[in-house]
Amino acid sequence: MDGPSGSGKSSASRGVARALGLRYLDTGAMYRAVTWWMLRHDADLTDPAAIAARAADPVLAIGTDPDAPTVHVDGTDVAAPIREAKVTAAVSAVSAVPEIRARLVAEQRAVIGSGDIVVEGRDIGTVVAPAAQVKIYLTASAEARALRRTAELSGTTVEAQRAAMATRDALDSTRKADPLAKAGDAVELDTTALTLDEVIAEVLRLVKERT
Ligand code: C5P
Repeated sequence: MDGPSGSGKSSASRGVARALGLRYLDTGAMYRAVTWWMLRHDADLTDPAAIAARAADPVLAIGTDPDAPTVHVDGTDVAAPIREAKVTAAVSAVSAVPEIRARLVAEQRAVIGSGDIVVEGRDIGTVVAPAAQVKIYLTASAEARALRRTAELSGTTVEAQRAAMATRDALDSTRKADPLAKAGDAVELDTTALTLDEVIAEVLRLVKERT
C-alpha cells in the first residue's frame, strides 16, 4: 500500500492486517528511525555523501505485529521520537540517498520473506515488492490529509500541516531514487470522503477479488 503522507495508509494497512491475521510492516518507520539516528549522531543532512557514508551504521529492529508495531535503533525504542517534527522535517533528505534506500529495501524484502504481510510506504508496489498480489495506492485531497495529520498531532495548525506535507510530498515524488509513485497495476483509492472502516472494507474486497 503506497501513497502520500496523510492518505490514511497506516491506519488502513494496520486494519487490513488485523482483519486478515497478517503481519504489518511500516517502511516509513524505518526511514524515520535511520533519520533519528543521523540527527543523534550529528550527520550533516545537507550532504548526501555524509549520509551515505553512515548508511550501514544504525542497527534497526522492526516488529510486524499490527496491534503493537515496534521500532528500535541500536537497542533504543524510538517509536515515539521518530514521530517528532524534527525527524519529519529531515526524513525526505535521508530517504533520497540511494545507499540508504538500497539498505532499507533489502531489509524490507528480508522481513517480507514469502509474503502474508501488509506493507505500507512510497515505493512498495514499484520497487520493494513489484510481484505483490494486491497493490493499492491511497490518495486524499490536500485539505483532508492536512486535517487528519492535525488531529493526530498536538500543537500544530491545519495550515502548517498542509505546508509541511506539500514540501515532503514534493521531495518524495521528485527524488531520483525510487520516488513516490503509483505502480501501473495498483488500484487507486481516493479516501477523501471515506471513513477508515470504509477504506478497510474496500481494501478487503479487493484482496478477496484478487487472491
Ligand atoms: O510514511 P511516513 O510518513 O512515516 O514516511 C516518512 C518518510 O519516509 C517519507 O516522507 C519518505 O521520505 C520516506 N519513505 C520512503 N519510502 C518508503 C516509506 C517512507 O522514502 N517506502
